[in-house]
Amino acid sequence: MKIGVIAIQGNVAEHAHALKRALAERGDHGEIILIKHDGLVLDCDAIVLPGGESTTLARLIWKEGIATEIKDAVKSGVPVLGTCAGLVLLAKHGDEEIAQTKQRLLDIMDIEVKRNAFGRQYDSFETSIDISGIGDGFPAIFIRAPAITRCGDGVSALAWIDDYVVAAQQGSALALAFHPEMVHDTRVHQYFIDMI
Ligand code: GLN
Repeated sequence: MKIGVIAIQGNVAEHAHALKRALAERGDHGEIILIKHDGLVLDCDAIVLPGGESTTLARLIWKEGIATEIKDAVKSGVPVLGTCAGLVLLAKHGDEEIAQTKQRLLDIMDIEVKRNAFGRQYDSFETSIDISGIGDGFPAIFIRAPAITRCGDGVSALAWIDDYVVAAQQGSALALAFHPEMVHDTRVHQYFIDMI
């Protein structure tokens, strides 16, 4: 099993470690491929888009030809996990801020996202959330997190904070507004590996 982590910017090492821990816990062998350029995505059985800065990530994945490869991989059924900025990239529709910064999204999930949805006062926070299908009481860390403001047909909302959806799945694409790679709890990564 080869799991590719888009390694342009952001929480790359954290995802690689979390995936390795999750694989070890289940006694599975897997290889983590750090994807810094084109030509690697199509060799992977799953793809992770880490959090970071979505404007930078969007610009570079399109420039490097990685974006088109991710879209092709997902079309052929390869699971993709996007966390935080990675969630923004997976979306079809962005908010005004995303439009103004002319971010080109991947249009993989029929969701509308709002960047930095939790505002300054709650810039970063940790809270326990229940994630449908994954488990209750997950320690979710939000860092200048986006939120999903609308889910289209075929998208299942898996977790909420107030009116915001903070976890959603559409087919083989899983999007989370928080950072499961920063906690010891491996349930999210286990769920993602199960999708492969
Ligand atoms: N606010 C960031 C963005 O929209 C995402 C923050 C993160 O990934 N931790 O790019």
